Amino acid sequence: MKIAVLGAGVIGLTSAWWLYEAGHDVVLVDRAEGPAAEASRANGAQLSYRYVAPMASPKMLAQLPSHLLPGENAIKVSLNRELVGWGLRFVKACTRAEVARTTAAQLALADLSRAELERLLGAVPLDFGLRTAGKLVVFRNRADLDAARPTKDEPAEALTPQQCLDLEPALALKPDEFAGGVYTALEQVGDCAAFCEQLFAKLKACNRVDIRMDTAIGRPVVKNRRMIGVETDQGIIEADLFVLSLGSGARAFARSCGFNLPIYPVKGHSITIVDDGAPKLKHSVTDYSRKIVYAPLPGATRVAGFADFQGYDTTPVRSRIAQLKSAAAETFGLAASGDVEPWAGLRPMTPDSRPVIGLSPLDGLFLNTGQGMLGWTLACGSARLSTDLIEGRTPSCPAEPFALARFG
Ligand SMILES: Cc1cc2nc3c(=O)[nH]c(=O)nc-3n(C[C@H](O)[C@H](O)[C@H](O)COP(=O)(O)OP(=O)(O)OC[C@H]3O[C@@H](n4cnc5c(N)ncnc54)[C@H](O)[C@@H]3O)c2cc1C
Repeated sequence: MKIAVLGAGVIGLTSAWWLYEAGHDVVLVDRAEGPAAEASRANGAQLSYRYVAPMASPKMLAQLPSHLLPGENAIKVSLNRELVGWGLRFVKACTRAEVARTTAAQLALADLSRAELERLLGAVPLDFGLRTAGKLVVFRNRADLDAARPTKDEPAEALTPQQCLDLEPALALKPDEFAGGVYTALEQVGDCAAFCEQLFAKLKACNRVDIRMDTAIGRPVVKNRRMIGVETDQGIIEADLFVLSLGSGARAFARSCGFNLPIYPVKGHSITIVDDGAPKLKHSVTDYSRKIVYAPLPGATRVAGFADFQGYDTTPVRSRIAQLKSAAAETFGLAASGDVEPWAGLRPMTPDSRPVIGLSPLDGLFLNTGQGMLGWTLACGSARLSTDLIEGRTPSCPAEPFALARFG
């Protein structure tokens, strides 16, 4: 089949590679000059296979009113029309049962993702700072730590403040400044943009892959109720099948196809602090209360966080960057005064935090999008699952939780 993949972020690129591997002719289309121009660029760098719980939860529901108040909270919400419908579905997903359903589905997809990334790297070596660094989640208050204590069956351990400091000597907190932590040894880190650039270069060298960058996608071309082409500013691109991986742009495209795809752009910020000789983090660290993650990358530390529901603007906000800088200085003594790259991106979030993978209401259009906070972690598994479904194979992990039909 000739398959056009719409979007060259980490989801589109992995979709393109897995489909190419399965023997298809692939066209990869994106409006940017190069790959990973948007959310897949300077994200938190965490391959977080165990921390997959959704954002919607009973606890989040209780906290919602406080996120609507002004101030520099970790989550900020400005209500608008597009957010209202999405928000109602989000509120519906804030139940224990739904959290359990999402967590189980995401754990299976994350396991698949890890296995598929490993398989990919066995066949195609890529150098993007991948490291099984382990993840330490630090809790500043005891109630949060108690709620997160791992059960005996979970591959994680609860640590006292002193044990956290012994494990991660770069942590600059005093033992009485926090309640403790949870450590998961098997979590990984890696630079998503470097992965994307290298996979893009491999795709470029393949004779069955046609790359169309600098190409803005408009509306679908539909004949006999089937999508047979896509209008772009460079002309119509025809294919037997289209895979929608436009990140936060997917909702608008779905609307032009005549159906609703509940994806909202949730803005996050990051800074990349170039190493200056200060003690380097050994592990990836999450500051649970502040919703900030720290990842050691080759030659730098990535600091990322926040969830701002404020529309499609991708400009980094000065106050958010200042918050990341002061948190990095206070928590790790990282001098964020020198060479720092500020960045912001939009996570394509569904109300229940599960991606949408499967057929769309429009024949000829397949959906692989909406990975939200976990797109880097879930990319290779999502590409595998998409390819399984497109090929009519038994899916490598349960597919039903990711179908668009769950939104009714
Ligand atoms: C601050 C922050 C931290 C994060 N940290 C992590 C993390 O630690 N671990 C993790 O797993 N995930 C993390 N994520 C989430 C992850 O980065 C995203 O889920 C993932 O990058 C989404 O990939 P994507 O390919 O769907 O979207 P994108 O990377 O945004 O790609 C979409 C592509 O579509 C193109 N496009 C859109 N509209 C059009 C159009 N009309 N025409 C042509 N092209 C178009 C864009 O140019 C873009 O290249 C983080 C995100 C943010 C913002």
